[in-house]
Amino acid sequence: MSAASASSPWYKSGVQFSCQSGCTRCCGGEPGYVWVTELEIAQIAAFMKLPPDEFERLHVREVYRGQKSLRERKNGDCVLLGDGGCGVYPVRPQQCRDYPFWPEVLKSWAAWEKEKQRCPGIGVGEKHEAPKLIELLKRQADA
Ligand code: SF4
Ligand code: SF4
Repeated sequence: MSAASASSPWYKSGVQFSCQSGCTRCCGGEPGYVWVTELEIAQIAAFMKLPPDEFERLHVREVYRGQKSLRERKNGDCVLLGDGGCGVYPVRPQQCRDYPFWPEVLKSWAAWEKEKQRCPGIGVGEKHEAPKLIELLKRQADA
């Protein structure tokens, strides 16, 4: 049974998380994927005032058939990461909005604790209640 469907997940009392000003660690540093839908590609391209096909040529790679990710630089940083943080923050992909409430991070207390090594916002600040987390996980599973 997954954490999202369990009647009493480990995070039943909620978790604390607040993104830390000036931090960009989840936007790079190691190889990974930032999945983007066609709608997100169109929204980000419009925000950057680029034709969608040009934006895609420059910044998107097809990983599997029809599954696209933002490109990353040689150092692992997302191609859209700028000096001041995400260069497309108002229209950043849903995956970025959902972090750190990803299935692989919320699957266990140990995974949540381990992710603290990457994200200094985990375990501090705003309280996020279990119903919201379950809803977030369900939406990601249904996507
Ligand atoms: S690693 Fe955590 S604190 Fe840093 S930018 Fe990402 S979400 Fe925010
Ligand atoms: S799109 Fe923005 S928030 Fe998402 S990984 Fe790239 S720089 Fe970070």
